[in-house]
Amino acid sequence: MKDEKIRLYDKTFKPYIRHERILDAIDGVARELNADFNGCQDIPVILCVLNGSIPFTGELLQRIDFPCQVISIKMSSYQGTTSTGTVLNVMGLTDSVKGRRVIICEDIVDTGNTIVALKEMLLDKEGAAEVKICTLLLKPDVYDKPVKLDYVGMEIPNAFIVGFGLDYNELGRNIRDIYVIDDKMKYYILFGPPGAGKGTQAGAIAQKYNLKHISTGELLRAEIAAGTELGKQAKSLIDAGSLVPDSVVEGMIENAFDTVKNVDGFLLDGFPRNLTQAADLDKILAKRGEEVTAVVGLMIDDEMIYQRIRGRAVIEGRADDANDEIIANRIRTYHSQTEPLIDYYKKAGKYWEVDVDGGTIEENRARVLAKMDTIA
Ligand code: AMP
Repeated sequence: MKDEKIRLYDKTFKPYIRHERILDAIDGVARELNADFNGCQDIPVILCVLNGSIPFTGELLQRIDFPCQVISIKMSSYQGTTSTGTVLNVMGLTDSVKGRRVIICEDIVDTGNTIVALKEMLLDKEGAAEVKICTLLLKPDVYDKPVKLDYVGMEIPNAFIVGFGLDYNELGRNIRDIYVIDDKMKYYILFGPPGAGKGTQAGAIAQKYNLKHISTGELLRAEIAAGTELGKQAKSLIDAGSLVPDSVVEGMIENAFDTVKNVDGFLLDGFPRNLTQAADLDKILAKRGEEVTAVVGLMIDDEMIYQRIRGRAVIEGRADDANDEIIANRIRTYHSQTEPLIDYYKKAGKYWEVDVDGGTIEENRARVLAKMDTIA
């Protein structure tokens, strides 16, 4: 099994149950079925519930050694007024099951609404003699029906999974292993010297991974523009290319963590900028039961920093881009205070680097997103 995470649409999934373990579970189910149906005189129906149980039923059939007929059905269900509360629409029941023994094959049972309604329907409406339920996976914490599940491959906690027939919006059914959603909040740090293109690339990254982009520089400039007390205090330091006090930026960061909703995480840009801020960030996240996910460094050399910032000065007119002396101070501040963070995060096994020295904005964006894909 690959150890890598995968992405399906907007969600990230991490490895959960390897193929070999799935097959072991199917071996177990097949052994029980073969024991129970050994020497049967009738021809039981294996009822494959499409599409999720295609891989399960396929593997199971190869292990079944009593005569059986396979029928595949597709179901849709909605809540209505029956004893189970679920009304079923069943397509593809191509042969009569009247008076016959039926084994329903499901990929997963969670609340059990559908499977229990299906069993009831097969017995009451279709006149089946006996209906057994066979499922590869069961979520016992969610299953709340009094109906016995006859054959269960594996019990799992209540988590959203894909692979081996299970899908997320129809994707992922073809994956050999089972993956579970990775729904921990993500805390990415977009790292690099001033002018490396963090602000330029941040939008695309934030959009792709549903992150909130937080640029401490931008937040501070907004405070200055709004003429707040904080802005007034920060202005002279910023204009000189020096750092503002740690407590100021950390307050802004914590505020964002507390208030931003409906995102999968954060993309921090311009924070942390020294070792104290990095250690404080670890503490802030630890309090929330979280941690830094990864640091992506965009690297350019000092000469390129001058070129980029001089170019930006013409477009954006930032006071701290105004002359080479201020730029030099920011580069010095970067090397002396910010660069040591590379080692800090390397030691934590969280540092990844992308070379953005050459290349157009689009090429560099593609490189950054490709790197993010390997760690997302
Ligand atoms: P930036 O837009 O990231 O280049 O930030 C512009 C300026 O804002 C910096 O040169 C600092 O003066 C200030 N600033 C931004 N982030 C921080 C931070 N994490 N710590 C201290 N000062 C910061």
